[in-house]
Amino acid sequence: MNCPFCGAEMESGALQSNYGIYWLPKPRKAGPPDLSRDAEHLSKQDSPLITPPYIPAFRCTKCRKIILDY
Ligand SMILES: [Zn+2]
Repeated sequence: MNCPFCGAEMESGALQSNYGIYWLPKPRKAGPPDLSRDAEHLSKQDSPLITPPYIPAFRCTKCRKIILDY
């Protein structure tokens, strides 16, 4: 995938967190994001005991942009 901002080849990888990855209208000030009514769980998990939640992603290290594939 090429970066939509600068056109450079993007690096593939994953955005990962032990607590899952959520979309929120605004950052939660305290407590786990999954306790927010507006939290949408975006991450996948191949094997809960082995692989922490993640989202496949591409990043451009030049523009410091990440495109998520959720
Ligand atoms: Zn770029």
